[in-house]
Amino acid sequence: MMPTKRDYYEVLGVSRSTSAEELKKAYRKLALQYHPDRNPGNKQAEEKFKEAAEAYAVLSDADKRARYDQFGHNMGGAGFSGFEGFQDAFGGFSDIFGDIFGDIFGGGGGGRGRGRDRRGSDIEYRVEIELAEVLTGKTIDLEIPRLETCAECQGSGAEKGSKKKVCQDCDGRGEVRVSQGFFTLRQTCRRCHGEGESIEKSCHACHGEGRAQKVRKLQAKIPAGIEHGSRLRMTGEGEAGQQGGSRGDLFIQVLIKKHKVFERRGQDIFCEMLIPYTVAVLGGEVEVPTLTGTEELKVPKGTPSGKILKIKEQGVPLYGMSERRGDQYVKVDIEVPAKLSKHEQELLEQLAAERKEKIQAKKGLF
Ligand SMILES: [Zn+2]
Ligand SMILES: [Zn+2]
Repeated sequence: MMPTKRDYYEVLGVSRSTSAEELKKAYRKLALQYHPDRNPGNKQAEEKFKEAAEAYAVLSDADKRARYDQFGHNMGGAGFSGFEGFQDAFGGFSDIFGDIFGDIFGGGGGGRGRGRDRRGSDIEYRVEIELAEVLTGKTIDLEIPRLETCAECQGSGAEKGSKKKVCQDCDGRGEVRVSQGFFTLRQTCRRCHGEGESIEKSCHACHGEGRAQKVRKLQAKIPAGIEHGSRLRMTGEGEAGQQGGSRGDLFIQVLIKKHKVFERRGQDIFCEMLIPYTVAVLGGEVEVPTLTGTEELKVPKGTPSGKILKIKEQGVPLYGMSERRGDQYVKVDIEVPAKLSKHEQELLEQLAAERKEKIQAKKGLF
């Protein structure tokens, strides 16, 4: 079922003895080159991007890399291993994504330069969404309690009418000289905290802090295809800075609720399904739940228990791309009826006789 895969080392263009650092460098280069945001609509780039992500997810994990070196793509053995390998590979995807792209696509980050030490704190916030909402993305309304610039004093911390005055202790220098034996040390002025000026009378609303606690209403857009645990950054939506310092950032961690029926593995959706034994033997159609409704699934004649069947494009999209969806995989199990009607019993006994199978027929019960 799995297509022929390229060697992970070959995918990343590194030797088998490469270091973790080199590995990361190689992946970062490829990921940037083929990232969907930079190659809109380019399916080949998207495939390369996914291929590199999977290769890196395996090779960057020492245990998985050792297993891969030994067993190649059949890392776990027979049967289901391809699937599990895929899950493992993408299980680590969001971490890598955050790590590699956080600084590139997440915005510049406020607070560098002017007033850095007065920069407001970052805020961490968690939201939970349903698996089905990963399909289209979601806009969520947030109510975030945070420190806002005080409206009474516009953040200066000074009471209306009162002004800042030159600090008496340091004469506006911000530091004082302290003699200790032979030495004279310079220390930051304690009265004005190095500002060189102090507030004559503190603002009554914020007690000179320049900030006050408020609840801020915000909307955050969660992109389609987001991975469980991803962090989104909203630059400048953290707490207000102190006395004119820049704002911190708001980080939203997105968690995806566990679904009762479906399990997500990368872009694919996985579920299990009981099918009647007659359908398994003779072939037929069964109705399978999907993230958006139901689909008819063709079951081929002679389908064994444990077989995995595919419904195309019923998975979730690649991060940030709502058009291209993964697939849904259905592992079928054969339902053995616990109760039979008299007629069914007779038919099955006939079938067993035809096949010369030794069964324990219920004789004399009826
Ligand atoms: Zn001072
Ligand atoms: Zn104030």
